Amino acid sequence: MIVLKSEREIEVMKTACRISAEALKKAGEAVRPGVSTAQIDELIREFIEKSGATPTFLGYNGFPASACISINNEVIHGIPENDRIIRSGDLVSIDLGASINGFTGDTAATFAAGDISEEAKRLKDTTEESLYEGIKAAVPGGRLGDIGHAIQSYCEKRGYSVVREFTGHGIGTNLHEDPAVPNYGTPGRGVRLAAGMTLAIEPMINIGKADVRKMPNDWTIVTADDKPSAHFEHTIAITSNGPIILTKCG
Ligand code: MG
Repeated sequence: MIVLKSEREIEVMKTACRISAEALKKAGEAVRPGVSTAQIDELIREFIEKSGATPTFLGYNGFPASACISINNEVIHGIPENDRIIRSGDLVSIDLGASINGFTGDTAATFAAGDISEEAKRLKDTTEESLYEGIKAAVPGGRLGDIGHAIQSYCEKRGYSVVREFTGHGIGTNLHEDPAVPNYGTPGRGVRLAAGMTLAIEPMINIGKADVRKMPNDWTIVTADDKPSAHFEHTIAITSNGPIILTKCG
């Protein structure tokens, strides 16, 4: 069931989303060679708690950290570790959420550590651009398939593939709500989009094949061909005036 939010509820939700965005910005600034993923996670937890919010991911389905930090061939759900040290050239994807006032924000971005290859940079940039293509399609009267199609066509035209096993999602009082928001689709198909929908749109894009597999830790998803992947995410609200990005700083 899709839960529509009132304008007032969207206003309240903005706080959780702003804290999420600020935490992600801080985390991105800390990404550099020599830093462990656990250090970045700690910084995220501290920032969210200092802001009066709760790290949504901590304990969610048993997840042991405040953020998912996924490097290179890791697509999503990387577990921060003390001995996982970021190296120059790494693509570091950070996904986090903050909850406050009964609502949740969810946002992710891929950051470059030190000098990354042209190939990696192009993947990162294309994935981010595709997120904004998806957001542009999130208008009242449109269809869910319009969002997925915008992302898919943007990335596939540039030679990348779209992960299919994982999708974006509705979000609000819960981290994961209906509908699932695939990063692929057919224009004009799927659920009709309406003002009051709040969605986490999150393209996960691979340089190589779309296939992924789960690591033995039962969390981390990696590309089946071990080639790099990138991930960007915003929580947005569909309003009568079109989409607004809630996970923005300031
Ligand atoms: Mg999400």
